[in-house]
Amino acid sequence: MATAPAGPRADLDLNEYRRLLEEERNRLTAELEAIHSQDETGGTAGELSELSDYDQHMADQGTELFLREQDQAIYIGLKTSLDQVEEALRKLDNGTYGYCDRCGMEIIKERLEVLPFALYCIRCADEMESRF
Ligand SMILES: [Zn+2]
Repeated sequence: MATAPAGPRADLDLNEYRRLLEEERNRLTAELEAIHSQDETGGTAGELSELSDYDQHMADQGTELFLREQDQAIYIGLKTSLDQVEEALRKLDNGTYGYCDRCGMEIIKERLEVLPFALYCIRCADEMESRF
C-alpha cells in the first residue's frame, strides 16, 4: 500500500531541484527541436506513429533508413527523458516531489542528487528495472 506523502520534503532544496529540472527540460527540448529540424521531409518526427509509417516508405534506401532509425531511437530516448522531467516538475508543483510514485516512500537525497528526475525509490526502480 502506498502511503500518502506527508507534504513537501523539508530536507531538500526544492528550488535548486526545480532549477536543475527546468535546465534539463530546456536542454532536452532544444535537442528534440534539433532532430526535428534535421528532418528534411518536415513534420514526420512529430508523432511516433507517423515515424513507423515513414519507415515503410524508406525501406529501400539503406543508409538513410539506418540514420533514420538511429534518429528515431534518439528521439524516443529524449522524449522519454523529457516526460520524466516534466513529471518531476509536476510533482514539485503538487508537493509530492521526492516521494516514490509507486510505494510513496521518500526517495533518498543521494539518489535525487544523481537523478533529479527520479520518480521511484531505488527498490521500486530495481523491481521495475527502471533507472528512474
Ligand atoms: Zn518505491
